[in-house]
Amino acid sequence: MEGSHGLHHITCIAGDPQENLDFYAGVLGLRLVKRSVNQDDPTTYHLFYADREGTPGTDLTFFPWPKLPPHRPGVGQAVEVALAVPEGSLGYWEGRLGPFLRGQGQRYGRPALLLQDPHGLPLALVEAPGPGRPWEGSPVPPAHQVRGLLGARLLVRSLLPSLAVLEGVLGYRRVAEEGDRVLLAQEGSFLEVEALPQGRLGAFGVGGVHHLAFRVRDEAHGLALRQKALHLGLRPTPPIDRFWFRSIYFREPGGVLFELATDGPGFAVDEPLEGLGQRLVLPPWLEANRQRIEAALPPLHLPA
Ligand code: ZN
Repeated sequence: MEGSHGLHHITCIAGDPQENLDFYAGVLGLRLVKRSVNQDDPTTYHLFYADREGTPGTDLTFFPWPKLPPHRPGVGQAVEVALAVPEGSLGYWEGRLGPFLRGQGQRYGRPALLLQDPHGLPLALVEAPGPGRPWEGSPVPPAHQVRGLLGARLLVRSLLPSLAVLEGVLGYRRVAEEGDRVLLAQEGSFLEVEALPQGRLGAFGVGGVHHLAFRVRDEAHGLALRQKALHLGLRPTPPIDRFWFRSIYFREPGGVLFELATDGPGFAVDEPLEGLGQRLVLPPWLEANRQRIEAALPPLHLPA
């Protein structure tokens, strides 16, 4: 039976929201496709960055929680996010990234630049194809623009239980193995899973990954994968309406929070494509509290 269709979005924790916006829209040149609030904590923004249309698989989202302590990397966490950039563009990025650049390396057998966002989130830019479509409003020329999510690195206590979920539920396939590290792939996205049997547990915080979301076609597809997760003894939530998609959450056995998210209806369901990200968008059930919610949020300005 069909697994997931690879990565849908990755959600991380940021510090100051304006610094987050200045980096992801201003430096990386992603499009802010949705300016909303955390549906479980509407006093916090939820910022969504993606390609010009918010294509599933291109979306990196943030909860800015500046009062949280810094993320502590460790077991039970995703500790690096890789983004796809076009072949031959690393030279451009090397010149653009300035103080955020940490070095050069390899990811998934390809050349990569390693960087850190302003709040400590480790990122890799890797020359690889991606689903994203160039956005004419980006400060980055179309030939070099980020093309979407490429992968993530996960730290777990032991490999087998996590692999049972990645392979058996999400449809990832092993492409390389070396000691306690396994590289998996699915529809152009990669997950590198490393077991640290004695490693200490990580902790959520600023600069960390909150969860990884995987693409499902529709709710029926999500429910079918939910059933497989139940059979493995996991405890998935019922489907939750996130308005731009419907989501099912579960913690995989290694402790990393996963989500199954539908491809539709997408970010253009509640504002025109040209105006994505310009104004605060609330799901209908929070609209009645708009005034109070807006008053509690710090102002945000798109980089010039
Ligand atoms: Zn999510």
